[in-house]
Amino acid sequence: MPLLSYPEAAKQILGFAQTLAARTAETVPLAEAFGRVLATPLHADRDQPPFPRSTRDGYACRAADSNTHQPLHLAGQVRAGQSASSAIHPGDAWEIMTGAPVPEGADAVFMLEHAEVLEPADASPTSVRLREPRTITAGENIVPRAAEARLGDALLLPGARITAAQIALAAQCGYPALSVYKRPRVAILSTGDELAPIESTPGPSQIRNSNSPMLAALVAAAGGEPVILPTVADSEPAVDAAIQSVLAAFPDMVLITGGISAGRFDLVQDALTRAGAYFTFHGIAIQPGKPVAFGHVPISIESPYPIPVLALPGNPISSAITFHIFAAPLLAALSGNTTLPPRFASASLIGEWQGKPGLTRFLPAHCDFNLSPRVGIIPWQGSGDLAAFARSNCALVIPPDADTLPAGAAVQILLFDSF
Ligand code: AMP
Ligand code: MG
Repeated sequence: MPLLSYPEAAKQILGFAQTLAARTAETVPLAEAFGRVLATPLHADRDQPPFPRSTRDGYACRAADSNTHQPLHLAGQVRAGQSASSAIHPGDAWEIMTGAPVPEGADAVFMLEHAEVLEPADASPTSVRLREPRTITAGENIVPRAAEARLGDALLLPGARITAAQIALAAQCGYPALSVYKRPRVAILSTGDELAPIESTPGPSQIRNSNSPMLAALVAAAGGEPVILPTVADSEPAVDAAIQSVLAAFPDMVLITGGISAGRFDLVQDALTRAGAYFTFHGIAIQPGKPVAFGHVPISIESPYPIPVLALPGNPISSAITFHIFAAPLLAALSGNTTLPPRFASASLIGEWQGKPGLTRFLPAHCDFNLSPRVGIIPWQGSGDLAAFARSNCALVIPPDADTLPAGAAVQILLFDSF
């Protein structure tokens, strides 16, 4: 049977993600809301701007008066934070600062740079005119009251991820705290007889467990709360016991690494099946990450929610790539985020790529994200090469039918951040 294609697998993940929803909400101070997902709408508590706002330092006037280029009587000054003491009279101008309320009756602001201040004999500037040949139209350099938002408007909806712009908007609307969805708890279980803890000196045939901390970082960056569990040996009783105890804690999602290929000691899929998981797919036509499996533990008397389970291949780069393309969208859905990763972008390829067609490849690459992004493949020794991976900032996506990509080709890249 041919392996499932990447687009088909992505569609199945998306379909499942759309059945997931965020759980409860909590309130966090605005300063801690960065990266969280909004749980209730954010409303404007007043018109924005609350007054017709000058966008320039200059002179508030009636456009028709200014366009005569006759001197306008300087009737007063409005600073930001103040209001004009009266409405503007015909033939008058008010000196005004950026951010100040435009006096009633004025319909334009001409810029300081376009003004000629006329000094009378006693040296007090009492009149100003718009320099010829400049003219001004009504509305220029003024944002009308409520042009940005009206009192009561919903400016952000539940499901919006909070970044700096949303924090600024919340501050403008008087929200010192925000209601956000609770972070989904993601259990991380690494399997493998060869795994040694970070702080140990590994034996001659051992390697340190790098997947657990890497996945914890990816989970946290994608808005989840990682829970790293002790590593598990490649024995049926050990894998069974570990999986059962993971599921008994009812995490929102489970990530398991290693033990999912076709080797004699790859025991994870059978153990998950014994624990009640149903698989949607096992093995995708991608590289790295081909052995990845996706399933879920269905709703039961004990568990009111299905628990998505991703069994990621143990090779670190395979784990990372399959996280980005399959785990991140599930996690975003569980976080209540309405925009699901993965995110792709286009770039132009530095150098040429040649290879065998048949698989969608996600090759570690480095992109210069300037105005015309250029991406280059990082030479690597395969999906265990963490030194190469650490030099990458994205993955070059190679479509399954390609055997050559010429230098300068327009290519797709997989972004490693989940915003
Ligand atoms: P597996 O998927 O279990 O066949 O493992 C594939 C490769 O990934 C092997 O070379 C493992 O030693 C390596 N590997 C598995 N788990 C981890 C881990 N947690 N951290 C680093 N490397 C791992
Ligand atoms: Mg293994």
